[in-house]
Amino acid sequence: MEKIITVIEGDGIGPEIVKEAIKVMDKIADLYGHEFSYDYKLAGGIAIDELGECLPKSTIESCLSSDSTLLGAVGGYKWDNLDGNSRPEKALLGIRKEMGLYSNIRPCKLYDALASASPLRADIVQKGIDFIIVRELTGGVYFGRHSTDIIDNELVATDVMTYSESEIERITNVAIAIAKKRNNKILVVDKANILDTSRLWRKVCGRILANHKDIEVEYMYVDNCSMQLIARPSTFDVILTENMFGDILSDEASMLTGTIGTIGSASLGDGTRGMYEPIHGSAPDIAGQNIANPLGTISAVSMMLRYSFNMQAEADSIDNAIQKVLNLGYRTGDMMTKGCEKISCSNMGNKVVVNIERKH
Ligand code: NAD
Repeated sequence: MEKIITVIEGDGIGPEIVKEAIKVMDKIADLYGHEFSYDYKLAGGIAIDELGECLPKSTIESCLSSDSTLLGAVGGYKWDNLDGNSRPEKALLGIRKEMGLYSNIRPCKLYDALASASPLRADIVQKGIDFIIVRELTGGVYFGRHSTDIIDNELVATDVMTYSESEIERITNVAIAIAKKRNNKILVVDKANILDTSRLWRKVCGRILANHKDIEVEYMYVDNCSMQLIARPSTFDVILTENMFGDILSDEASMLTGTIGTIGSASLGDGTRGMYEPIHGSAPDIAGQNIANPLGTISAVSMMLRYSFNMQAEADSIDNAIQKVLNLGYRTGDMMTKGCEKISCSNMGNKVVVNIERKH
């Protein structure tokens, strides 16, 4: 298969971690007879410096014409004093909007070898943690009307949460597709005891899921879910939720795995094209030192193969290689524990590459 990938290295550790992810893609191409070509584009702080804007037109054009986009991370101290609209991070919202990416897929998987890094008790962690949060990305309170007015001599701020049936329908279909590739279970998380938007979510999700009798559906209030994620994380599989709840729950969930350095994420819209990135930021405090953990970006590549290119065996090969490298005791500094061997970012990339095996 031939695929063109837009590659946005971004700022801080972005170029270092993306370099390792590309090594992994090249190994997969070699092993499985694919041809991956890379269109390197600028976004974020480096694009502000070199081209005067955080998201140049040429970058968007590439994202819209390629098969998918791989992004390192954007932002850093140098641009921290710019106002909200000109900051490097604005590029992310722009890419999501232009590409019509309305769903964010965030896995929460605790590798056995990293179990001791989880802040949870060993008896809870022992049961395993492996679930996915499917978060609606372009609706809800983040995109509703925002205003601050003076009413009766005091400031009153308002943020409006809105959802339409069609917005809920399309994200529910994303969750269904993912659940069918896993264990046919979906948990819809909402606040239906209070919010009209949540009651609409239940109605629409219920209607669509009624056509998928093979999928087991449950509903849970978000406040309860935030507790249960800590108390019994092994019981979760696919969590479907709206934008703000998903934002908060996915950060909570990432901590269950002990480090943000190993997790990738996917943003998807209609069709197969998506944007893939690690969940962490540009880590300017460790940039340029070859010590960053590249596994989150490598996991993002695995997700690209799985969700956009339907290359399941190839994605499994990457996931297994990561697992193997961790089982062998190799760690970057952020995951380091006693008895393990500390290695650099580039060495971690190399270790994953040599441990990739063809499955079928
Ligand atoms: P961050 O995730 O960059 O860093 C938080 C901490 O985690 C730091 O101590 C960092 O060294 C460490 N860390 C992060 N990734 C790591 C990795 N792969 N290996 C080892 N250690 C790692 O969050 P922050 O410090 O809040 O943000 C830094 C910059 O990144 C800011 O400008 C922020 O706006 C931006 N940011 C970008 C994205 C994105 O591009 N998607 C996401 C979040 C933050």
